[in-house]
Amino acid sequence: MEPFIPQLVYIEPKALDYPLGRELKDKFEKMGIEIRETTSHNQVRNIPGDNENQVYRNAKSTLVVGVRKTLKFDTSKPSAEYAIPLATGCMGHCHYCYLQTTMGDKPYLRTYVNLEDIFDATMKYIKEREPEITRFEAACTSDIVGLDHLTHSLKKTIEFIGETDLGRLRFVTKYHHVDHLLDAKHNGNTRFRFSLNSNYVIKNFEPGTSSFDLRIEAAGKVAKAQYPLGFILAPLYRHEGWEAGYLELFEKLEATLPHYATKDLTFELIQHRFTKTAKRTILKRYPKSKLEMNEEERKYKWGKYGRGKYVYKTEEADELKETIEGYIHKFFPTAKTEYFT
Ligand code: SF4
Repeated sequence: MEPFIPQLVYIEPKALDYPLGRELKDKFEKMGIEIRETTSHNQVRNIPGDNENQVYRNAKSTLVVGVRKTLKFDTSKPSAEYAIPLATGCMGHCHYCYLQTTMGDKPYLRTYVNLEDIFDATMKYIKEREPEITRFEAACTSDIVGLDHLTHSLKKTIEFIGETDLGRLRFVTKYHHVDHLLDAKHNGNTRFRFSLNSNYVIKNFEPGTSSFDLRIEAAGKVAKAQYPLGFILAPLYRHEGWEAGYLELFEKLEATLPHYATKDLTFELIQHRFTKTAKRTILKRYPKSKLEMNEEERKYKWGKYGRGKYVYKTEEADELKETIEGYIHKFFPTAKTEYFT
C-alpha cells in the first residue's frame, strides 16, 4: 500500500499566498503531476471521466489545494467539542464510507493551506471554554493521516495543540503512513486512533486503505511514540466466522502493543448500519460488493428527519457487543470502552 499520490491537482490562486500552498505547488510540479487552476475549492469542474462512476473514481485521486474561508468550526459531539478543518475527502474506497452520502457530489480531496488562520480560530475556541479542556477532532470529513505525508498539516496541528494547556486533538485513520508523525512533539495532547476490523472486513470492504497487518504494526509504532492510543472498531460486522476474526484482531494487538501503552487505551464500537440512501449509493458505486444490506434481517432504528437506519436485530447486536467487550476485557482489562452504538 503506497502512500497516496494525486493524479490531478487543482490550486486556488489565493492558496499561493500561503507558504504551504507554494510548497505544494512546487512539490507537485516536481512530481510531474498535472496542475490546474480553480477559482474555488467548493466548485471544482471538469474532473475527467466518461460516466458518473469514472468521474467519482477520478475525483478520489484529485487533490484541491485551497483556502479555508469558513473558520467557524462544526461541532463534533460526542467525541470532541469541535471539528478542526484541515482537509476534506478521502482516497479510500470503503464500501460503507459515510462520506459517500455526506459529500456525494464533491468526492475530491481538499487540503487547506491557511493553517495560521485555522490555528488562530482554534485558540479562540480554547479560550472561550477556559478552564475546561477543549477537544478537536481532525478526521470528521477526511482520513487526514492518509494525506499528511504530502502536507504535514496534521503534524503541525499536533505540535500546535501540544503547546496548549487546554487543547486536545484526536483523529482516526485507516492508513499506516505514520512515520513522519512519530517524532511530533505531541506532549500527550493528541489521541491517535486507528479504525480496525477483522481481516475479512478490511479485505472485502475497505479497498484503497492499509491492510490489517500494516495498521496493527502502525499502532505499535504510535504506542511506542507515547501517543495516547485508541481504536474505533467499525463497522462491527457479522460475517461468517466473525467471532474468530475479531479474536485474531485482539490477539495481534496484544502481541504488538507495548505493555505500558495498554493502560490508557480507548475503544469505540460501532455496529454496521445502513440507510436506504446509503444502500442505493453503495450498490451503484460498488455493484459487486458482498456487503449484506438486507432490510428484512435488520432492525429499523428511527432517526431525525426520516433518516432512519437499519442496524442488527437486538439479539444479534447484544451478542456482538458482549463478544467484543469480552475480548477487550480479556486482552486489555484497563482499557476504556467509550460507547457501543
Ligand atoms: S478510510 Fe474512512 S474516510 Fe476514507 S473511504 Fe474509508 S471510511 Fe471513508
